[in-house]
Amino acid sequence: MIEKTSLNSENTERIVEPEYTAEDTDFEYSLRPKRLGEFIGQEKLKENLKIFIEAAKARGENLDHVLLYGPPGLGKTSLASIIANEMGVNIKSTSGPAIEKPGDLAALLTNLQDGDVLFIDEIHRLSRQVEEILYPAMEDYFLDIIIGKGPAAQSIKIDLKRFTLIGATTRAGQLTGPLRDRFGVIMRLELYTEEQLCDIITRSSVILAIPTMQAGAREIACRSRGTPRIANRLLKRARDFAEVLGDGKITQDLAKIALDKLEIDSLGLDSLDKRLLSMIIKGYGGGPVGLDTLASALGEESVTLEDVCEPFLMQLGFIARTPRGRTATALAYQHLGIEQMGQQQL
Ligand code: ADP
Repeated sequence: MIEKTSLNSENTERIVEPEYTAEDTDFEYSLRPKRLGEFIGQEKLKENLKIFIEAAKARGENLDHVLLYGPPGLGKTSLASIIANEMGVNIKSTSGPAIEKPGDLAALLTNLQDGDVLFIDEIHRLSRQVEEILYPAMEDYFLDIIIGKGPAAQSIKIDLKRFTLIGATTRAGQLTGPLRDRFGVIMRLELYTEEQLCDIITRSSVILAIPTMQAGAREIACRSRGTPRIANRLLKRARDFAEVLGDGKITQDLAKIALDKLEIDSLGLDSLDKRLLSMIIKGYGGGPVGLDTLASALGEESVTLEDVCEPFLMQLGFIARTPRGRTATALAYQHLGIEQMGQQQL
């Protein structure tokens, strides 16, 4: 039995955090696929995107505005730069919370050239005021800005180049109708299969020159919660264990040791996932229990539970969403080794 380190989710950043963290800075850039051909998985999305890109290029037009949505770490930012690369145009990147005033957005838009891409991450967090500036910009390529206040206020129109807006969001449902309607292409990214994650890990180990056995890559893949960012991070951590405890090669055994030490179980669940499931089962008799109640009982933010834990636990079939809240399924009881009492439902 391998001894476990005492990683405590209250005071330690989760290794399986799918959001970008400081830890990712040194290698994320080099691992980011640059062309569509290097982007693994999401086959349907890639097929369609390829056609839209070819058609726009053949017509000599800018690509229609694209909205990419899905859980964090699945490749939305990577796809935005791939689109710009494939179109042969420049990309400017920003994020919803970074654009504070309409003037900030106006400055970005007026600097774009024909065909350029403006990438806005977390686009659901744009303020209403800023969003309203975007409508005519996206639809008719002009800005309508009010200068001054009260009776002296003046509206001025500024023509823009024909740019492409690429928006990324983890929560398409939070986008306002008018904004969503202005995207010509709306694409959803799915969690990756074990096979695809294995290919991503193999590609990353070649780029980072980490000797990785196929079985080692597979072991990491099946614990990466369907998320390439997590797969890359676990690969990097496994390298540390392989270098210190072995000869530097990531074998299945070394990958197992590393992942067990990081308290990531055989399915990729970490301590927060397990606390969440235990809370539903032991604290609320298996549910249903509301998300906010769960969040405060666990001392976590509801968004973390909703964006990070739930998509994966639902994909595993461990929790179900009902109108009255979340329930734990029989599979969750089984996985945690808790006996299901009486009439719990699947
Ligand atoms: P998001 O914007 O959805 O949070 P990113 O585009 O930043 O995700 O992807 C996170 C990391 O995962 C990237 O640096 C890249 O290395 C890796 N990645 C994501 N999708 C793929 C893919 N399909 N193929 C290879 N690597 C990928």
